[in-house]
Amino acid sequence: MGTECHHPDGLHPGLSGADLGAALGDAERRCDATRERLTPPRRRVLELLLGADGPMKAYDLIAAYGADGEPAKPPTVYRALEFLERLGFAHRIESLNAYVPCRIEGQTHQAAFLICECCGTAKEFEPDFAAELEAAAHAGYAVRAVTLEARGLCPACQAD
Ligand SMILES: [Zn+2]
Ligand SMILES: [Zn+2]
Ligand SMILES: [Zn+2]
Repeated sequence: MGTECHHPDGLHPGLSGADLGAALGDAERRCDATRERLTPPRRRVLELLLGADGPMKAYDLIAAYGADGEPAKPPTVYRALEFLERLGFAHRIESLNAYVPCRIEGQTHQAAFLICECCGTAKEFEPDFAAELEAAAHAGYAVRAVTLEARGLCPACQAD
């Protein structure tokens, strides 16, 4: 993903250095506040997602897991992803079968993504599904989660 993009502005590098440290610190405080633990595997997977240039597939996370180049045991990564999704630190993008860190502060929320088919970035925005969710509730549905995935070209990739 993203390797065939020839638009330099289309690439959005992940967090690094102090920004990455601050984001991990925020995550730890959010965990403490909800009496959850950001265990070393959970922290490491979140660190990889935050530092990535775009959505990461589970097998990329497994391969990149060890700082010494050792891959992780797959269940370690899958369990960490489950935790990060449950607490709203990360989202799974179904159509890419890949994960991104949540860019919106606060609680677990309905997620929407603008996915660029050229550079592979997925920009998160907060959708307003209130009316649809109310209609669904009226129709008797107990909705657990909604994810909207809009595909196309980001502003940078429309230039040629
Ligand atoms: Zn591009
Ligand atoms: Zn989010
Ligand atoms: Zn793009």
